[in-house]
Amino acid sequence: MSVVGAAVLRPASSSATDELRATLERQRAAFLQAGPPPLAERLADLARLKAAIRDRADAIAEAISADFGNRSRHESLIAEIFTALAGIRHASKHLARWMRPKRVSVSLELRPGRARILYQPLGVVGIISPWNYPFQLAIMPLIAALAAGNRVMLKPSELTPRTAEFIAGFLAGLFPSDRVATVLGGPEIGAAFARLPFDHLFYTGSTAVGRLVMQAAAENLTPVTLELGGKSPCILGEDAALKGAVESIVYGKLLNAGQTCIAPDYVLLPEGKREEFIALAQRAVKKLYPRLAANPDYTSIVNERHYQRLRHYVDEAKARGARIVELNPAQETLDGARKLAPLLVVDPAEDIALMREEIFGPVLPIRTYRQLDEAIDYVNRRPRPLALYYFGEDAGKRDKVLARTISGGASVNETLMHVVVENLPFGGVGASGIGAYHGEIGFQTFSHRKGVFLQSRFNGAWLLRPPFGRLSTLMLKLLLRR
Ligand code: NAD
Repeated sequence: MSVVGAAVLRPASSSATDELRATLERQRAAFLQAGPPPLAERLADLARLKAAIRDRADAIAEAISADFGNRSRHESLIAEIFTALAGIRHASKHLARWMRPKRVSVSLELRPGRARILYQPLGVVGIISPWNYPFQLAIMPLIAALAAGNRVMLKPSELTPRTAEFIAGFLAGLFPSDRVATVLGGPEIGAAFARLPFDHLFYTGSTAVGRLVMQAAAENLTPVTLELGGKSPCILGEDAALKGAVESIVYGKLLNAGQTCIAPDYVLLPEGKREEFIALAQRAVKKLYPRLAANPDYTSIVNERHYQRLRHYVDEAKARGARIVELNPAQETLDGARKLAPLLVVDPAEDIALMREEIFGPVLPIRTYRQLDEAIDYVNRRPRPLALYYFGEDAGKRDKVLARTISGGASVNETLMHVVVENLPFGGVGASGIGAYHGEIGFQTFSHRKGVFLQSRFNGAWLLRPPFGRLSTLMLKLLLRR
């Protein structure tokens, strides 16, 4: 393990846990000594971060691509750099308002007392991030945590080691280690990290590890935000404009080769539209990726274990009678590059791994339904997804799907886009997560909302204090009647 701060990479001490604890204690002491940073300091931090991200955008994209084997540079610039810059821009623009104490009204009997909500930094927060968008998913929570005035310890994923090393050096160049420290290491370090008595622990990753993180945090009563995964469905209504829908689904599925937490996982479409969907998907892939093997736009699967996992899903689906349609426009052989040609799996059995586990790759199962209610039931019989996509023009049907299914977020007649709207909370529900961030919700996630009552010099509180006499009885009568 190494904890990186102040521009040097220090070797692990004899006990990793001791070193982690020491870092946390240093950050906590610095936090208590300095108090909550004023607006100007937070804005300066965000501006420094923004300028540095802009300066190093190419280096970031290169590190990520080296980790993946091939990661589209454009995808990195859009989904890692642009999103982070947009997050900083939004926070910088609105931070003054977010930080301002919010006046709330008090009921008549408490007047002329007043009440307000104060937003306080929590102190030292831990952030654990995954490999699929290894820069963005570390930096976006960091932006929210810094905007809220916290100190941060960050543990990026070991599966993208070049990006993790890059982030460590990058942040060490921008912040002292008692402000932001990066911890490098794998699951064991992750587990030790999650056991630290943080003031808040923010985790992005799989549902299985999320459970462990929450158990570890419970020991310290550390509050958690868990940004998890799951199987995000796409439902096509009878009246969906099929061509546009398929293009959006194929795009959403193949971005980062399907290794996106909110990627469409599977499709439910009306009976009778299956063959048209398949033909349109063939065309959509050809338009986006005329070639796959040497195409820098088409991203590789991150490592051999995930590549084999996906192959196994498809083999099992085939063995259990599903029809597999390869969407490989130039009919290339993709061996060796850990690139997997997009595949449709038509009418898979319900009990196979492909239909139980989050796919996280360019494999798209499609199933048909007779009535929209069947599609809604199918979704509701499964753990609550992180995202849901509905395609259709009828507002009544759209609203029914949105009201009757529970998912972290949703986009209508589009995939993925709800994640980039800074004013929308981003997070899961049930098995797909706890809590949310982005924009003001992210600021609040990393803030304590302190409810404060301010008593006025002249007030009627004495009326309800002993010794209770006639006046108190009269007052009570009035209060109980209201
Ligand atoms: P993962 O759970 O394997 O790892 C995530 C992080 O947890 C890594 O940094 C890892 O080192 C650390 N970790 C591993 N074991 C740990 C432990 N016992 N205690 C504490 N930390 C530990 O997840 P992954 O494979 O990197 O990410 C893929 C998953 O993340 C998918 O399920 C995906 O849907 C989900 N995801 C969710 C979002 C979201 O915003 N909701 C975003 C991206 C990915």
